[in-house]
Amino acid sequence: MAETLAPAFTGADVPDMAALRTCVHCGICLPVCPTYRVLGEEMDSPRGRLYLIRAAAEGRIGLTPSLTRHLDLCLGCRACETACPSGVPFGSLLETARGQVERQGRSTTPRLLGRLIFALFPRPDRLGAALGALGLYQRSGLQRLVRAAGVLRVAPRLAAMEALLPVVPRRADVPVLTPARGTRRGRVALLTGCVQRHLYPDVNRATARLLSLAGWDVVAPPAQGCCGGLDLHAGRLDELRLRARALTAALPDDVDWVVTNAAGCGSAMREYAHWLPGDAGVARLAGRVRDVSQLLVDAELPLGRLGATVTYHDACHLVHGQKVRNEPRALLARIPGLRLVELADSELCCGSAGIYNLLEPAMAERLLAMKIERIVQTGARIVVAGNPGCLLQIAKGVRERGLDLEVLHPVQVLARALDQGRSFGEQDLGR
Ligand code: SF4
Ligand code: SF4
Repeated sequence: MAETLAPAFTGADVPDMAALRTCVHCGICLPVCPTYRVLGEEMDSPRGRLYLIRAAAEGRIGLTPSLTRHLDLCLGCRACETACPSGVPFGSLLETARGQVERQGRSTTPRLLGRLIFALFPRPDRLGAALGALGLYQRSGLQRLVRAAGVLRVAPRLAAMEALLPVVPRRADVPVLTPARGTRRGRVALLTGCVQRHLYPDVNRATARLLSLAGWDVVAPPAQGCCGGLDLHAGRLDELRLRARALTAALPDDVDWVVTNAAGCGSAMREYAHWLPGDAGVARLAGRVRDVSQLLVDAELPLGRLGATVTYHDACHLVHGQKVRNEPRALLARIPGLRLVELADSELCCGSAGIYNLLEPAMAERLLAMKIERIVQTGARIVVAGNPGCLLQIAKGVRERGLDLEVLHPVQVLARALDQGRSFGEQDLGR
């Protein structure tokens, strides 16, 4: 008979045993799991990982390096949740198990890099300063020299981080208030995000412009912090709670909706109530979170002609985390002249997965290669995704392969169509 150990998970935030027992081991989730597709190992599948978490929770195994490796390799993409007919909440089970692994110091990912990332990414002020310095590094020509000399080859994870970064744009904050144009529908708060505001300020500006044309007053408080999405993904649940409370206090309460244009942020915010039960303010915020595509999909927009072949990649935390699948496609398909081509395996993770591509560059690279191969097969000249992490990851793959492909957020494509339609559109609305 197998020896029974003490349960490996202790204290607060342990994986929910009742939820673990809902897995009936049917295996329907296996074919959609990116790590299972790459490695073909049962323990790198959702069913295998659930088996390991349950065995650890029941004291049948400890938090061995092998167990933590299988959990660390999981992308947290939640494709398994969408596929599962039994409704197993894989995401929250993984996040609690990861939190336990992290707290007990058992993770197999490099701790120093993890600390550096969490000291920087969820802090818009620090991230802005670091990216400002990086912009100088790029513009001074130093980046070219460092790359040519291959200096970063000795530190593959640092090299992965450096390779991921696009040309850092100049700072361009979205206005604190963008008033509604035309018939007013109400008022929304815009989450400006940490990565989004510094690396993709155009996305925030296009979001505000489109929402205002759709009749919404758009409020974007400059003092808002991080949503805690990266913390949640890593199982840092206390940090998530702190950030959720701070963000709830920073965003106005007198709004109809809280709009996000970053899938990972929206997904995390919608789950606040689960992680902070009994906090009414946080629950009210969570209940009003919507992806920008959901607010635009039924709006009258003066879109001009855009003759382009476009394909759409489903960001995991939009399609699986928020169940937003049709709205971005419907919006793109409305642009006159635009040809939308379906992407094979559109819902397969591109390898970005929050900070996964920095911590697990080898697996991230294999998934990126699969994604790029399928994008090329579509013949599209523009690939669209609703999450900054996916934009960074896919753009890196495009850059490294020298492909003639643009990587854009849906609102950037819509904003281009607006520019084309200005002769008969926005100026009539007072732009
Ligand atoms: S979250 Fe994604 S990578 Fe992890 S087990 Fe589920 S499908 Fe596989
Ligand atoms: S997680 Fe769901 S789909 Fe996967 S084996 Fe368990 S019950 Fe089946």
